[in-house]
Amino acid sequence: MRLPGLLPLAPLTGYAHPRCYLAPTNDCCPTISSEHFISKTVLEAMGGQIEFCGLPFKNPGEVVTYGINSLVSNILCVRHNTALSPLDEAAGRIFRVIQEICLDLKKNSLSRKRKWFLVSGEAFELWGLKTLFGLFHAKVASNQGQSVVQTHTLDVNHFITALGRPLTDLPADAGIDPAIEQQTDQHLGRPVEALNQRDEILAVLR
Ligand SMILES: [Zn+2]
Repeated sequence: MRLPGLLPLAPLTGYAHPRCYLAPTNDCCPTISSEHFISKTVLEAMGGQIEFCGLPFKNPGEVVTYGINSLVSNILCVRHNTALSPLDEAAGRIFRVIQEICLDLKKNSLSRKRKWFLVSGEAFELWGLKTLFGLFHAKVASNQGQSVVQTHTLDVNHFITALGRPLTDLPADAGIDPAIEQQTDQHLGRPVEALNQRDEILAVLR
């Protein structure tokens, strides 16, 4: 399962949009997108209405519900948003698979038929980084009621590096552990292989 390129196609535009968090690549277009900071495909797989608590612009402990179309922010230019869209598609598939497994486990069935779902583990890791940057720059991520974008910095260069080459080449301080080769899922008691090569897969078992 090979991921497509996640950086815009050449030639470099030489333009850095001031509102795009990937502006350090100097490869933006002039149009800002209305980007879902949590992928729309994932929100749809989760059921559409999402409850939030701890938002920096709400009272402490207040729970609010938002629909999918409300969860957007102007944090990526169209060129970068389009380039990252394969991660949204891959993450949507992963969450739909998780939903299907959960629903299947709830069924009262004596069937012993085994199902296999193949998804990209690398895409899931990169989608996690994309979501982290989305929540940060959309001013949603907070600490004790204060938006962390006002109190912290988040180095986008590691993310740009991860988008451009296989995870196994990343330095250890990139926040991603490329050393995981085999783990055992204690709940299922079966091996789950996390393979980080760009053209390999994560197998989800049941
Ligand atoms: Zn951009």
